[in-house]
Amino acid sequence: MEYLQGRQRDDNFLHKGLRKQLVQLLREKGITDERVLSAVDTVPRHFFLEPAFERYAYENRAFPITANQTISHPYTVAYQTQLLEIDKYDKVLEIGTGSSYQACVLAEMGVTLYTIERQKALYDYVDKFFYIKKYLNIKRFYGDGFEGLPTFAPFDKILITCGAPFIPPKLVQQLRPGGIMVIPVGEGESQKMIRITKGKDGTIRQEELGVFTFVPMLQGRNK
Ligand code: SAH
Repeated sequence: MEYLQGRQRDDNFLHKGLRKQLVQLLREKGITDERVLSAVDTVPRHFFLEPAFERYAYENRAFPITANQTISHPYTVAYQTQLLEIDKYDKVLEIGTGSSYQACVLAEMGVTLYTIERQKALYDYVDKFFYIKKYLNIKRFYGDGFEGLPTFAPFDKILITCGAPFIPPKLVQQLRPGGIMVIPVGEGESQKMIRITKGKDGTIRQEELGVFTFVPMLQGRNK
């Protein structure tokens, strides 16, 4: 499988048509941010999946990627991105690079994206992935998302794409006043989507915005 990551793949009219249908589905499910919809319309999600799953790439489904991890449902990606209220040129931190699909959607929207992955196998896998080379605005790190990236803080937006057992205090610290963080919180089968808004004076506001299922956010790096 890995050898395929380095190879250019085909994005034909069928894929493009299926993407338009996916965008329509996301609209019906309540995604209204045109910048998010346009990025989903542009990024070929099938490039991020094993060829065996290619024909399902534009259904609203999650899929296994390498190292026992998953690429999130397109709706979840679009929903989390919409909650971030992305502006072009935002400096964004993502925890959980995974397949890098979410990273490419954000990069397509024009942000500068810092993304951390704790699994070395996945980090290396994305290294060989031809499509990510399109985005010079993605900076990838192999590390522990609980620590964030203090040297590059503060961030305008922070997105966690794994289920966190609690809200990591270091990530809240690394959010700029006026910034937004979106994080699924909860240890069991499902997580509550929480949006944290940091006021200009540093005060924190929390909103609960639905229930989702994510792979767990785990402590420390994994070789
Ligand atoms: N955004 C990804 C979703 C991948 S699933 C995509 O679009 O495909 C979540 C990812 O979070 C997994 O790859 C998992 O290894 C990673 N992860 C879990 N705990 C982490 C941590 N503490 N730091 C960084 N990444 C973590």
